[in-house]
Amino acid sequence: MRLRLYNRASPIHTLGPFNRYGIWVQGCSRRCDGCITPEGQPLDGGYEMEVEELCREILREPGLEGITISGGEPYLQAEALAELIEMLRLSADLGVIVYTGNLYEQIREERLTGLCDAIIDGPYMKDRDDNKSLRGSDNQRLILLTDRYKGLIPFGTINRQTEKFVSSEGFTALVGVPPKCTEEERQWQMEVSLIE
Ligand code: SF4
Repeated sequence: MRLRLYNRASPIHTLGPFNRYGIWVQGCSRRCDGCITPEGQPLDGGYEMEVEELCREILREPGLEGITISGGEPYLQAEALAELIEMLRLSADLGVIVYTGNLYEQIREERLTGLCDAIIDGPYMKDRDDNKSLRGSDNQRLILLTDRYKGLIPFGTINRQTEKFVSSEGFTALVGVPPKCTEEERQWQMEVSLIE
């Protein structure tokens, strides 16, 4: 089974607690105004990777507490992601946080949902961007599905944090939910990030 990915980075610290492996899947049809990853929207963009290969790569990373899956829309590749999580948990006790544009009520019966410790749900709504931590807008909710992250995710309570990650291919990415800014400031940030 294969996944279509936009990016991956590890360790990251701005999309959940502790050291995490970040996976951004490729493809989303929602087209939210102000989406921070428009390059992740085309369903045929990004690159493909075997689930087994990604599993081996994650297990090689030292000191991980868990993974965070974002996108793109993870539920467009829900079966392959469920496969990945089940494969990982045969060898390691890793926590799972998933960002989705769906509402929890729409995905509560999915196999992938049953494997998550926490879900942050709902589409990005530009006019409800409150500049708060770990969410794009205040319509989004943190749904704890196990006790694993109880009291450990400062969701919507502090300022946003980001970190820069340089991939092995030299690609610079801003990881985390970026602070609210104007379109001009966003363009400037992207240009700086490409130059550096
Ligand atoms: S759901 Fe997320 S990835 Fe999809 S368009 Fe909206 S902000 Fe972008």
